[in-house]
Order: sequence, then structure tokens, then C-alpha cells
Amino acid sequence: RADVGLYRAKQAGRNRTVLESSRRPPLAVELVEAIARETLEVQYQPIVSLVDDGQTVGVEALVRWQSVTQPSVTTEEVIRVAEENGLIGNLDKFVLYRACRDAHDFQSAVADRRLILNVNVSGLELVEKDYVGRVDEVLRATGWPAAQLVLEVTESVLDVNTPTAITNLTDLRTRGIRIAIDDFGTGYSSLSRLKTLPTDFLKLDGSFITSITSEGEAPPLLEVIALLSTSLGLPVIAEGVENSHQAAVLTALGYSLAQGFYYGKPQSARGLIDSLGTPTSVGT
Ligand code: C2E
Ligand code: MG
Ligand code: MG
Ligand code: MG
Repeated sequence: RADVGLYRAKQAGRNRTVLESSRRPPLAVELVEAIARETLEVQYQPIVSLVDDGQTVGVEALVRWQSVTQPSVTTEEVIRVAEENGLIGNLDKFVLYRACRDAHDFQSAVADRRLILNVNVSGLELVEKDYVGRVDEVLRATGWPAAQLVLEVTESVLDVNTPTAITNLTDLRTRGIRIAIDDFGTGYSSLSRLKTLPTDFLKLDGSFITSITSEGEAPPLLEVIALLSTSLGLPVIAEGVENSHQAAVLTALGYSLAQGFYYGKPQSARGLIDSLGTPTSVGT
């Protein structure tokens, strides 16, 4: 862009490092700072069991960032800016570290079951050769068990032929870490491919749940996906459940896990700990 050129010209007298970073848009420059100073926040949304009275079985970590210059930047925007400016590796590592650290407190609040911790991974990260080593490092530093970690990868990442991604997923699973295909149903995974992918959960995209309205029958695709899940042995986590009707339809179709505003919005670690201590009224 023209303004970038002008900006660079103004910077010309400065040293090379400044010149390099001046190529970044202002939001990215601000984000570099935020990651370095660890001023990003992580919120947690419960994942519940549809068969056990809506009991919380895990949480998904979701990054939040308050930009000083641009109010209300969405998380999707943050991720996009991070990916476009080479910052996603550090962002994802920060979130993984923070989440694995906080998860110990969630686990302490529920003595009777093992919670799973779901963390999103950018496709750009997953194709990095040293990715698995970095996950190892975080688990070692935080002491969070591999068997209680689920990494969420979007379906589109696995559409393309990326041998390193597949190798990494396989290596992660060797450690006991499980893999979820995020936004399932929005990509193009062929069914035969799905069978061979190193994966453990399908996260059904919220758009499918939105299509469950109080009028009419359940969308036929939901029935097909339930059968697919059973035949592949891949449990589905239904995303974006917003009301009791949707929850009832999913339960009737045999879905076992769900997540959405109906069960709980993403909230701070403190807020989540408090809600874990309170028996849920939902689903009973
Ligand atoms: P996602 O992983 O599919 O996460 C689910 C999104 O749906 C979250 O949006 C969540 O707040 C929202 N959501 C949950 N329940 C409901 C509901 O009942 N109704 C509606 N309408 N929405 C609901 P959020 O937090 O804005 O995150 C957007 C996306 O950004 C995530 O989608 C994920 O792909 C990405 N993301 C978030 N945190 C991270 C991160 O730490 N690293 C990476 N690489 N990506 C992240
Ligand atoms: Mg996710
Ligand atoms: Mg999703
Ligand atoms: Mg998404």
C-alpha cells in the first residue's frame, strides 16, 4: 500500500530492525507488544456432557485482546492479524501455557472427574517442524497431563496435503494428546479421509446448531452426522448451543457433548472456577 511506502521512507534513517517491523500494520505492532507483555487474556467456555445432566467435562480456551487504539477487535480479527504478521506462534504458545497453568485450578474445583482442556491451534503452527517440541515444553513447565489436553485444528487445514501436519498430529497422539477437528462440516474432508486422519473428536460447527429452530423437524444432516460419528467412533462436540430446544434435539439424536451460550459463555478463569463450584441448573 502507498502509505506503507511513505512510512518506510520516513523510517529510512533508522536501523534495520525498526525498518523491518515498520512494515507491520499498527494493530500488529500493538499485538507484538501485547504478546511480549502478556497482556492478552484467556477465557474459558465449558464443554458439557449431554448424557450426564449437563455436567461440565472440560473447557475450551479462547484468547481475548483489548486493543488500545481500536476498540472491540474481535478474536477472529486478532487471529487473522497474528497469522498475517508472523505472530501466531507466540500467541498460540502463550495461550497454551496460560491455559495449562489455569487448568490446574479448574481441576481442583471438580474432584470427581478428570477435566479436558481444549486449546485452538493455528494451521500455520501445525505445519512447523518444531511444533510438537514446543507443546512438550509447555506441558513439562506447567505439569498439565497430556491425556487431558485436546488440540483443536480447523478442518480446512487438513484439506490440503500437508505431511508435516499429519506427522505432528500423529506425534502428539503418541503422547496421549487428543485432536479435535474444529468447525467440522464447513470444510471439504472426504469421508474416506476422515477415517484415516489422526483425530479423536469432531467439533460440529455452530451453523448446524443454528439450523435447529423450534419449528419443524431436526435438519436431516444432523442425523447423518450422528451416524457418521458412531460409525467412525469419533465423538462430536456440538458448538454454539444457545437454547434448551437445540439441546433436546441433539440429545435425542444421540449427541454426547455440547458447548454454547446455553451452558455458559466464555469467562475468566476466576469466573469459571466459581461456576464449577455451583451445580448447574441446565439440563436437569
Ligand atoms: P472456535 O474455536 O470455533 O470457537 C468457538 C467460537 O464460538 C468462539 O468465538 C466462541 O466464543 C463462540 N461461541 C461459543 N458459544 C457460542 C454460542 O452459543 N453462540 C455463538 N454465536 N457463538 C458461540 P471466539 O471466542 O470469538 O473465537 C473465534 C475463533 O477464533 C475460534 O473459533 C478459533 O478458531 C479462533 N481462536 C480463538 N482463540 C484462539 C487461540 O488461542 N489460538 C488460535 N489459533 N485461534 C483461536
Ligand atoms: Mg475451537
Ligand atoms: Mg469451531
Ligand atoms: Mg471457528
